[in-house]
Amino acid sequence: MKTVIFPADDPRTPKKAAEIIRNGGLVAIPTETVYGLGANALDEEAVAKIFLAKGRPQDNPLIIHISCARELERYCHDIPDSAWHLAEHFWPGPLTMVLPVKDCIPKSTTSGLDTVAVRCPKTAVTRALIAQAGVPIAAPSANISGKPSTTTAAHVLHDYGTEGKIDAIIDGGPCEVGVESTIVDLTGARPRLLRPGGVTPEELSALLGELEIDKAVLGQIANDTVVRAPGMKYKHYAPRAEVYIITGTSEAAATYVRRHFTQGDAVLCFEEELPLYEGCNPTAYGKIGDVKSLSAGLFSALRDLDRPEIKTIYARCPEGGGVAYAVSNRLKKAAAFRCVNAEVEA
Ligand code: AMP
Ligand code: MG
Repeated sequence: MKTVIFPADDPRTPKKAAEIIRNGGLVAIPTETVYGLGANALDEEAVAKIFLAKGRPQDNPLIIHISCARELERYCHDIPDSAWHLAEHFWPGPLTMVLPVKDCIPKSTTSGLDTVAVRCPKTAVTRALIAQAGVPIAAPSANISGKPSTTTAAHVLHDYGTEGKIDAIIDGGPCEVGVESTIVDLTGARPRLLRPGGVTPEELSALLGELEIDKAVLGQIANDTVVRAPGMKYKHYAPRAEVYIITGTSEAAATYVRRHFTQGDAVLCFEEELPLYEGCNPTAYGKIGDVKSLSAGLFSALRDLDRPEIKTIYARCPEGGGVAYAVSNRLKKAAAFRCVNAEVEA
């Protein structure tokens, strides 16, 4: 069996892909965040194939994707008003909500939790596919576990090849947001941010009035820690090189990197900084003046730099809130939270 590529703009695509989903197959789906590896969320065997193909630990639950907010009631119970408000404002879009799960969702999808993560993606072809399939689609990011996420169909092909490890890929072009969805847990006393993404903490606080930030967002979590979003404790997004985040002004960072740079190292920087790194193998992932370009370009750049000859990557990271908060969360995880302040260390 070969992996089939369906163009997103072919009107037959949702129906063809839905048939594969209903038959228990795997389809890589484009979304505005990243490409997901999708299967029927109600079918335990199909869900098991996702874990196997990705090499994903069994205790890392999947997000289920629905085609419209009304479908929430089929899969969740005790839905608070805040969930409906969030859905009204941010769906379809890059926001995932954690809610109490109904029994129709198998344990393999939720890793045995009594909650489920739910999202309604913006990408039209994917919503059409979910509606056609008539089932929610469980889909983690389509990358092989631990590697940078997939933001193009070519990334998915790179990870799985064409020899049928997955049944199909819907090619919807590059993802607009480029980092995974914001996850907010609505099952506790107060709403809690489990993962930052395209919907920002400021936007959530404005709507919810309050928002706690989970400790997994802020720092490295030991593997035996119990965390609210189990996926956050694993090594993530990492190319094979060691990544170091260099903070400080552009000039201080460039001075530090030029002093420490050796053959085989690489630099991941903002486009505006490229001239400062001549001769230091620089790759720009976007513009610091346009943070959305950084989120859209981050994973592609990390993948380009995932080469055996590169041993150390010096990375520049945006600071502050908004989408920068999500970019810095992913980059810090890729760097295992190794940061060097170039204004302090010589
Ligand atoms: P991925 O799709 O690869 O971005 O992974 C999905 C993320 O959602 C992981 O970090 C999971 O731990 C998180 N997640 C999924 N279901 C739940 C849940 N019920 N409660 C908390 N986090 C969840
Ligand atoms: Mg992932």
